[in-house]
Amino acid sequence: MVYDLIVVGGGPAGSTCARKAAQLGLDVVLIEKHHHPRRKACGGGLTTRVRRALDVDFSPVVEREQCGLRLFSPSGLTVEEVRAETTGYMVRREDFDHLLLREAERAGATVMEGVAVVDVVENANTVDVITDEKTYSGRLLVGADGVNSTVARRTGIKTRWRDDEICLCIEAAVPMDPEDIVRIVGDPNGSQRVLIEIYFGALRHGYAWAFGKRAEMSLGIGVLVSELEDLRGAWKRFVLSFEKRYDVRIDLSATTAARVPLKGPIDNTIASRVMLVGDAAGFVSPATGEGIYYAIESGKIAAEIARDIISEVGGVSTETYQQRWQKAFGKDLGVANFLAGMMFHSIENMEAVCRMAYDDPVMRAYTFELITGAVPYRTSRNRLVKRMLRKHLRTAIKMIL
Ligand SMILES: Cc1cc2nc3c(=O)[nH]c(=O)nc-3n(C[C@H](O)[C@H](O)[C@H](O)COP(=O)(O)OP(=O)(O)OC[C@H]3O[C@@H](n4cnc5c(N)ncnc54)[C@H](O)[C@@H]3O)c2cc1C
Repeated sequence: MVYDLIVVGGGPAGSTCARKAAQLGLDVVLIEKHHHPRRKACGGGLTTRVRRALDVDFSPVVEREQCGLRLFSPSGLTVEEVRAETTGYMVRREDFDHLLLREAERAGATVMEGVAVVDVVENANTVDVITDEKTYSGRLLVGADGVNSTVARRTGIKTRWRDDEICLCIEAAVPMDPEDIVRIVGDPNGSQRVLIEIYFGALRHGYAWAFGKRAEMSLGIGVLVSELEDLRGAWKRFVLSFEKRYDVRIDLSATTAARVPLKGPIDNTIASRVMLVGDAAGFVSPATGEGIYYAIESGKIAAEIARDIISEVGGVSTETYQQRWQKAFGKDLGVANFLAGMMFHSIENMEAVCRMAYDDPVMRAYTFELITGAVPYRTSRNRLVKRMLRKHLRTAIKMIL
C-alpha cells in the first residue's frame, strides 16, 4: 500500500499533523518508536496560545492552571507578577502526548507504536520509510521525530546541530505533596493555580525553572552547548538551594538529560517529498524554550500542504510549506532569538532585566507577557524597547555595549 502521508514521530507535532491530515481525508500512517504513554523530558508548560491553536479538549490532562510568574535574579531579587486570569496550563507530557496520539487515531490515522524508523529513501514519485519491522511507502513524508530526527539526517536536510544551535538540559519530574506545591508556587490569592518560577543566573548564559503540577514538580536547568559550563555542578547547586529555600526534600530518581534546539528554525525544512515539523525543524522559542505551540502549528500547516499536494492544487509544493511557516511564526521566532541574545548575553544583562521588572511595574508586565507568550515577540520587543528608551536609557545602553 502507498499511503498519502507518512508521519514519523508521535509527539505534539506528529500527532497534530496526522490528526489534521486524516480529517482532511488523507490516508495517513503515524510511526512512533515508543509505546505511549511515554516519558518526555519537558517542563510541561503550555501557553494560552496552545489552547487557541488546538481544537482538542485537553482539559482532562491539565494538572494545574497558571496565574503568573516569579523571577529570581542572579543577585537574588524576587519579581512577581500575578494575574486574575489564567495565563497558561501545566501538563505531564506523558498524558498530553498520549491524548493527542489517541485523537489522531480517532480521526482515522493508522498509528504504529513501538516501531523505530531507521532510514528514508526518496524515489521519483514516492518515499520509502524503512523501520525495524518493514518498509512503508508514501507519497509524502513528515518528519516529526524531534531534535534527534532520523528523517532530517537520512534525507540530508539537517545532518547535525551546531553547538550554538542546541541547548542541553537536565530535567527532573519530582514527586511532591500537593500541599507543598501550593505552598511553594501557589497563587498568593488562594486559588489552586500556580506561578511558574524562572531562576536567572543559575548559569552564566542559561536559566533554571520550577513548574508545579498536581503532585509533581518539574525542576530543570538548561544552557546552549556552545556556552556550556559545569552543567551538573550548576544543577546540584540549584537543587540544593531549592531544597533550602522551600524546606523540601527533592527526589531525583526521575532525572534525564535532553536536548532542545534553541536558535530558531533551521534554514531549510524540506525536500521534494519531505517536510520537517516541530523540534526536527528547530521550531522552539530561543527566548523561553517553548516548543509545543510551534510543534502544533507546524503540524497543522504541514497537513494542509500535504492535502493540497495530494489534491494537485496548482502551484503547491513542499516549498509552500516553507513559506507558510515562515509567515505564520518564523519571523516572530527570529525576534525571539534577538531577545534571547540580549537577555542571556551575560549575568549582568539577566540582572538588568530583573532589576527593571522589579523597579517598574510596566516593565514587569511586559516581561511577563514575553515569558508567558501572551503577545507575539514582535509586540514584546517593541514595547520593551520603547519603555527602555523612555525610562531605562542607561540600562539599555549598558545592555547593548
Ligand atoms: C527539558 C525540556 C523542557 C521543556 N519544557 C517545555 C515547556 O515547558 N513548554 C514547551 O512548550 N516546550 C518545552 N520544551 C520543548 C518541547 O518539549 C518540544 O519543543 C516539543 O516536545 C516538540 O514536539 P515534537 O513533536 O516536535 O517532538 P517530540 O515531542 O520530541 O516528539 C518526537 C517523537 O518522535 C519519536 N521518534 C523519535 N525518533 C523516532 C524514530 N526514529 N522512529 C519513530 N519515532 C521516533 C519520539 O519517540 C517522540 O515521541 C522543553 C524541552 C526540554 C528538553
